[in-house]
Amino acid sequence: MTILAGIVVTGTEVLTGRVVDRNGPWCSEQLRELGVEHQSTVVVGDRPADILAALRWFEAQGCSLIITSGGLGPTADDLTATVVGEFQGRAMVVDEPLHVRITEILRRLTARWPNVDQDAIALGNLKQATIPEGATILEPIGTAPGLVVPSVGDGPTVVVLPGPPSELIPMWQVAAASEPFRSAIEGSAAIDQSMLRLFGIPESEIAATMRDAVDAGVDLDALEITTCLRRGEIEIVTRFAPEKTDVYEQFASFVAARHADTLFSTDGSTIDEQFATLLKGPPLLSLAVAESCTGGLVAARLTERPGASEYLRGGIVAYSNAAKVSLAHVAPQMIETNGAVSEEVAVALAEGARTALGADLGIGVTGIAGPDGGSEDKPVGLVWCAASLGGDRLAVRKLQLPGSRQVIRDRTTTVVLHLAASLLGSES
Ligand code: ATP
Ligand code: MG
Repeated sequence: MTILAGIVVTGTEVLTGRVVDRNGPWCSEQLRELGVEHQSTVVVGDRPADILAALRWFEAQGCSLIITSGGLGPTADDLTATVVGEFQGRAMVVDEPLHVRITEILRRLTARWPNVDQDAIALGNLKQATIPEGATILEPIGTAPGLVVPSVGDGPTVVVLPGPPSELIPMWQVAAASEPFRSAIEGSAAIDQSMLRLFGIPESEIAATMRDAVDAGVDLDALEITTCLRRGEIEIVTRFAPEKTDVYEQFASFVAARHADTLFSTDGSTIDEQFATLLKGPPLLSLAVAESCTGGLVAARLTERPGASEYLRGGIVAYSNAAKVSLAHVAPQMIETNGAVSEEVAVALAEGARTALGADLGIGVTGIAGPDGGSEDKPVGLVWCAASLGGDRLAVRKLQLPGSRQVIRDRTTTVVLHLAASLLGSES
């Protein structure tokens, strides 16, 4: 049975983009794990009429469950609990024991500030302890309690959660275990999700593969497939009922057979993880990078992973020609003859990184990220990448990337990880 849920993200800061919504996507994934179909997320400002309209809209869509995030604080613009009370037709009542608990939390929090306005605090506190009658209280992580407000009649149950992700996330489990939440999603069935990642293939190829899979008799209607191009890679995410696992496997094999050279991940692993695994060996290999146009983005991406110190020696940002010569030991003559953006210099940067930092594997990147500085010969988006294990154990790639400066620099980090990983893969 399909159980539908809606998510209402509140907050003018999220609506305007000053804060990027992290709660909607996080709750969506939790709902999927519970086998609940996430209908959509609506983002509204801190306006009661808009929050109410969003709740009514989800009710009209047939949602059994609505999750709200934000607007539970003590200030006048935090109105979610009141609006949800009105939506559910429940009176707002002060929960005395909750009032006492919030008072105690606030006493501890404000002890450090002797000059705070105690009357204002008391008012805010009373507001946070005023809840729709009959709601289940989720104990505050900060100062705001969350709520599970049961439906009246056939309507949806509303789960009211605080805005800060650090409060919402720990409160989720308690909410999901509560009786009204369980009964709202009764009859839901788990949905599995699998991901395939491909590199170096246009999205249109996947569309063609899907058509051919249907022609070959794979029942794609049993699967919900979405493809998305992200940082130069294609992600194929498939959701399916557990009893349709065999259909998914047929589809995954079809893709694997068609795209053996570009499919690099069938278990959700990223190229970053795979490269780290290859470096960790055994044998353990150390790594150094020398970057020009990416200005340290490759090193930054490598250090995003905890434990990178195991294999990463360091990086050189060799942006000017002088830095390429003095830091990465590129011969000035080589730059003069071939230009800074050339195969020779990319290889020399990789070699220079290896020797300067005493690493097994060196990576070199040089290119023209734009928007200026291109020429007919060497247009914006031309990037040379090299990975070297010394001598002729070398991989080099020339790219002509489309897009903005930011896109070109970001794509380059993806390409260079694939290049270096394939060099290591071909050696093992
Ligand atoms: P508080 O008691 O902190 O006011 P609240 O429940 O009223 O909690 P909001 O006022 O809506 O929550 O948001 C407080 C802060 O939490 C925001 O300024 C923002 O930094 C963060 N936050 C809120 N909603 C989101 C969201 N959807 N994604 C990421 N961060 C969020
Ligand atoms: Mg607030």
